[in-house]
Amino acid sequence: MKNLALFRLNRWLIFTLVVTLIGCKSEGPVKSSVTETIDVTALDPHSYANFNEVHTQHLDLELEVNFTNQKIYGVARHTLINRKATKAIFDINGPVIQKVTLGPKGKEVEADFVIGKMDKDSILGQPLIVTIAPSTKYVNIYYQTGDECAALEWSSQEEKDRPFVYSQGQAILTRSWIPLQDSPNVRITYQAKVTVPKGLMALMSAENPKKTNEQGLYNFSMKQPIPSYLIALTIGKYSYHSYNERCGVYADSELLPKAAEEFSELPEMMAAAENLYGPYAWGRYDLMVQHPSFPFGGMENPRLTFVSPSIISGDKSLVSVIAHELAHSWSGNLVTNASWNDFWLNEGFTVYLEHRIMEYLKGQEYSNILCEIEFDELNQELKEIKASEHPEDARLKLNLTNRNPDDGMTSVAYVKGAYFLKTLEAKIGRTKMDAFLKGYFKKFAFQNITTETFYDYLHSQLLTVQGISFNTDEWLYLNELPKNMVKIQSKDLDTMRLLAKKTNQGENIFAPVKKFKWVEKKYKKKRKRKSFKKVYFTVQLDPKKYNTQMWQTYLRSLDSTLSTATLNTIDESVGFSHANNEIRFEWYMVCLKNNHWAIKEGLSEFLRNIGRRKYVLPLFKELLRHPKERNWTAELYRNAKANYHSVTRKSVEHWMK
Ligand SMILES: [Zn+2]
Repeated sequence: MKNLALFRLNRWLIFTLVVTLIGCKSEGPVKSSVTETIDVTALDPHSYANFNEVHTQHLDLELEVNFTNQKIYGVARHTLINRKATKAIFDINGPVIQKVTLGPKGKEVEADFVIGKMDKDSILGQPLIVTIAPSTKYVNIYYQTGDECAALEWSSQEEKDRPFVYSQGQAILTRSWIPLQDSPNVRITYQAKVTVPKGLMALMSAENPKKTNEQGLYNFSMKQPIPSYLIALTIGKYSYHSYNERCGVYADSELLPKAAEEFSELPEMMAAAENLYGPYAWGRYDLMVQHPSFPFGGMENPRLTFVSPSIISGDKSLVSVIAHELAHSWSGNLVTNASWNDFWLNEGFTVYLEHRIMEYLKGQEYSNILCEIEFDELNQELKEIKASEHPEDARLKLNLTNRNPDDGMTSVAYVKGAYFLKTLEAKIGRTKMDAFLKGYFKKFAFQNITTETFYDYLHSQLLTVQGISFNTDEWLYLNELPKNMVKIQSKDLDTMRLLAKKTNQGENIFAPVKKFKWVEKKYKKKRKRKSFKKVYFTVQLDPKKYNTQMWQTYLRSLDSTLSTATLNTIDESVGFSHANNEIRFEWYMVCLKNNHWAIKEGLSEFLRNIGRRKYVLPLFKELLRHPKERNWTAELYRNAKANYHSVTRKSVEHWMK
């Protein structure tokens, strides 16, 4: 296929990158200015690293975390695999480099280095180019984090009684707090010595403590090789609850009992996932309930998934997020996208696995509900992508050169990717599908692969050998949703759409309805003929019968022409404005579309307390469609943004421009 050939060729194109290099040893002023041409193999359009010549195999971090000035002071000691390179290029976006040395600890000699690009690239940051010898094995980078550090979120002044800091690395934010080769192609093991203020617990995506260290000294070790975006750190006043010898949950001490109860199905989920896809490869699996500012529902940091507290609903209705993050232990963490253009390999597989785990735990209908809700989101997003300047973002294989890799974090990677696998499953049958996936995870464990590697494997191991014809090229390289895509429908959601239709037509679906039935009359003496009487009774819709996802669908199916009286009635009947975060979010969206401003107080409280981008961004986008409320919206954002991680802030500010 034409598309396929084109993509394969692009991957191997060599391009020349011209950078202006500034002598930049931190102890003195700028010493020299030179222009140098660097040949970079375009293996990863989002990293300057020359990892094809020299790459980090192991990273030793020594970090001191200062909460007073909100900086981390550190040394990043890189152990290299060096193929006779004379320079090693690392990625930085923010860290101030103090010095660079070569050699093992204690036998170090200072090295020459330059920082490329005087005007740093707003997306990629800058290359840190260290002069090395062809035999150099160790590079040590002494640094401190800069005034701006996109990965880290620190507690505010008001939170000084419960200080915290946490990192978010995906996609290319790790370079903002650690100088390293920030490409998923470079898999590293790591160790870290971290010093934190007394009384705080530090945790990483590594072997973790269960208790707070009195002295604030922590040692971490991640023995399996991981890509840089999975290095994670979190520090705060945490406690731990163990479910069994393999898994548990960390949270702020006050929140821990609630969190432990909410995620109590975790051992069952692990058993289900292992049963489907083979042994869990990472030792322990713990959850870490993050600060409400955490920008995502969850982040699959190995051994220690970070989750947003917004998924704690009290009724376990949002725990599919946990199934999703756990599934990443196979798709994403074990088999990783080689570049962000192949992001669907991480997310499409993970959504497919998430649905399978949830089906195993809660049945087919529940999995269908999740699937259909996400499919609606995909369709919505495809409309926006089609109308945007990058309609080609509707493809699974992306081309994000010169763009922010976060642009690829759309439903296409997640949902179209999952539908590709579901359609393949429908074609070949579940038994073959499961065997294929198990084999895939085993074959590519601890490797980074491209879409093309997957394509070759799928065809050579399954489709070609078994004579199965399947339109893989169309799925991977074309914008449209292929015609053979499986249709997945949930009866429960059909019921909710019907209810929404009635609401849209002005019917009060919550009002008691008088009904009758015929009941046989009873007489003292037996009669020849039976006779019947009408017995009247009332029925009323019981909101408790419907789960979160069902109400989500109901709310999404409502029109934007509802009266205030109707909105008040449905809120009073179900209590949308006091429900869990997922429902509250949908409710506020309905109200904004209907110009129902009575929700202002609740909405403002919601947006000031939760920094999850999935909620914050659409709500601000919707608010911005109301010019009359511009001032109120701007003030709300000013008050709320301190509680948002840079990922959420940047997304909203992009729309506010
Ligand atoms: Zn994911």
